[in-house]
Amino acid sequence: MPIDPNFQASRTTKVYENLKVWKNDTSSLGIYGTDVAVDFDLCVGDGACIEVCPVNVFDWQSAGADRKAIPVRERDCIYCFGCEAVCPKFAIRVTKP
Ligand code: SF4
Repeated sequence: MPIDPNFQASRTTKVYENLKVWKNDTSSLGIYGTDVAVDFDLCVGDGACIEVCPVNVFDWQSAGADRKAIPVRERDCIYCFGCEAVCPKFAIRVTKP
């Protein structure tokens, strides 16, 4: 199952550092980010988005098997949609404001 495209309407938010985290009753870790959103419950940390992003929006969070790609610089996004295309779990949704 891919990231919920309606997560902004169906989930409530908390703030983690400079990002919103979107959760509902069925989420565990939640979706990190808004315009560039990564579902941490789907992310397997393969790093394809980190490699493809031309403006380094993502950083690693945690390490080893628990690592996730966190969109810490989502405001730098140029909306190329490369990260959406390469994610093997369809865990990323980019929304041009
Ligand atoms: S859409 Fe492009 S620029 Fe934006 S985070 Fe994804 S890979 Fe980076």
